[in-house]
Amino acid sequence: MTILYKLGDSLYVNVTNKCPCACKFCIRIDHDNVNGEDNLWLPHDPSVEEIIEDFKNFCLEDYKELVFCGYGEPLIRIHEVIEVCKYVRSMSDIKIRVNTNGLSDLIHKKPTAHLLKGYVDGLSISLNAPTKEAYLEIVRPRFGIESFDAVLKFAEEAKEFIEDITFSVVDIIPKEQIEACRRIATERNIKFRIRTFIE
Ligand code: SF4
Repeated sequence: MTILYKLGDSLYVNVTNKCPCACKFCIRIDHDNVNGEDNLWLPHDPSVEEIIEDFKNFCLEDYKELVFCGYGEPLIRIHEVIEVCKYVRSMSDIKIRVNTNGLSDLIHKKPTAHLLKGYVDGLSISLNAPTKEAYLEIVRPRFGIESFDAVLKFAEEAKEFIEDITFSVVDIIPKEQIEACRRIATERNIKFRIRTFIE
């Protein structure tokens, strides 16, 4: 079972394969890994104890950043993510980032960004569309049309607690939509990144 895996200078944490979305571009449709090595399909969601145990196989000093990402939406397990962050913080000041679809509030049916305060240094939030209709079409979230606004609200609230926030888009969406997403990010003083689609 691959819980921690290396990608570039970062160490990634694979906490779940569950996700409330079915993005048209999701890498999980055609691949079982992102680094050519580790199968990221999990036989079960690893417990906090299992995740912490796996840290014994890695030296955090070898990495620039710890990233909760993996093959699913990590904030489905926001409480476990926080417990793992507490463990990491107890022994290292490595930067901690979460790659998320930004739907944590709808997943947990309450505001959640503040829970990450003091544990997470950065958030990369998938935006991928400039309107609620376009978002629904490409991300296909199970929460329906209210999802896009929930992502924007989550990002806005997270700004109060987390310094480094980025909206990302995948480069398969139309250029004019990419530019509209860039404007959404700029208006909110949020960084913007275009990710390359992995075929
Ligand atoms: S949010 Fe991420 S894991 Fe979920 S379907 Fe979209 S790309 Fe895949």
